[in-house]
Amino acid sequence: MRVLLIGSGGREHALAVGLAADPSVDFLAAAPGNPGIAQVAELHEVKATDPAAVAALAVELAADLVVVGPEAPLVAGVADAVRAKGIACFGPSAAAAQLEGSKQFAKEVMAAAGVPTARSYACTSQDQVRRALDDLGVPYVVKNDGLAAGKGVVVTDDRAEAERHAAECGRVVIEEYLPGPEVSLFVVTDGTAAVPLMPAQDFKRLADGDEGPNTGGMGAYAPLTWAPADLVPRVLAETVEPTLAEMRRRGTPFAGLLYVGLALTPDGPKVIEFNARFGDPETQVVLALLETPLAGLLNAAATGALAQFPPLRWLDGAAITVVVASRNYPGTPRTGDVIEGAEVPGVIHAGTARRDDGALISAGGRVLSVTATGPDLASARDAAYTLVDSVRLDGSQFRRDIALGAVEGRISL
Ligand code: AMP
Repeated sequence: MRVLLIGSGGREHALAVGLAADPSVDFLAAAPGNPGIAQVAELHEVKATDPAAVAALAVELAADLVVVGPEAPLVAGVADAVRAKGIACFGPSAAAAQLEGSKQFAKEVMAAAGVPTARSYACTSQDQVRRALDDLGVPYVVKNDGLAAGKGVVVTDDRAEAERHAAECGRVVIEEYLPGPEVSLFVVTDGTAAVPLMPAQDFKRLADGDEGPNTGGMGAYAPLTWAPADLVPRVLAETVEPTLAEMRRRGTPFAGLLYVGLALTPDGPKVIEFNARFGDPETQVVLALLETPLAGLLNAAATGALAQFPPLRWLDGAAITVVVASRNYPGTPRTGDVIEGAEVPGVIHAGTARRDDGALISAGGRVLSVTATGPDLASARDAAYTLVDSVRLDGSQFRRDIALGAVEGRISL
């Protein structure tokens, strides 16, 4: 199989490693890729959000399968353009990607499908915002309606901050605060059949102890040994299947990766958000444990053949990833710093670039995602932090407490 992967972040490097390891893949290209992905795939230039350009590249490379990593190309219609050329594509149509592209759309689908989620209001005026905040109370949860790279949400007790964020965003969804530990569940689907992957947990806040601003994600681990045994079947029955059915009913079936972000509340799992693609950095840990060859699975979803796909196989043990971010992330990150020690297995590249003289340099906010496995979470953690300590990047920031609560048995339901 000839595969073209679209994207350039840590998620795509993890996907590239998984695709390259699949014996059914005899050619792997990535566009635009990054220096880590270049170790396993042929890189091509492309504007990832230009549907015609991506489709033309897929034709030029005689790709059998295109895998779209990030959300922006999906919302822009890249999967539609690739499929229009008769090439299988893993990723939802632009219409179905609205599950991520618009929080309000996602809320409407959830309401129609009877999915457990936070009560919410869609607001376009400060008057509506004030009424919603009055009704729902603290902590206030204010979400930008459109794509915001995981950074459009403010959760705060500070009324003025909540109103300020709403005013800056224009269209917002204001919702009830959902208490309880968060879980990310990835579901591979062809629109009808749904195959859940292993649940993972990510860490959105910048600093240890869940302090500091929200980020795109600072680390993740799996499996979740503390999660209820019926979590996955329950979420499939209460959330995934009704959502897929509602999307089919609307004539816009969702095929690709449905990311279900959940809070495990005292009343059961409730949806915090849907995404239309693999989560970053949870992908790094989930794929590190997936033994089933990745390209075959994604191709089955892209070709409507998932119902016949054999049960997934998983490695024993645990995986953890620790994101190394540049100075000043998630503000305006400092870039161009030389990175050393990052061209080794387990170091996933997110925001890196190659300087003219060949040096590896930082080129984004989240620079690396250092990933390790082990027979249990504690040993995976030790291995990941040993690897983190061997990477040098001036001014870098990372959390020291990824998966610590789980290792110490401090997560309560
Ligand atoms: P989102 O982009 O919707 O995933 O939100 C980013 C982060 O904000 C989530 O991972 C949660 O930590 C937090 N968050 C969003 N919505 C809620 C909610 N309704 N209740 C509690 N926390 C939330």
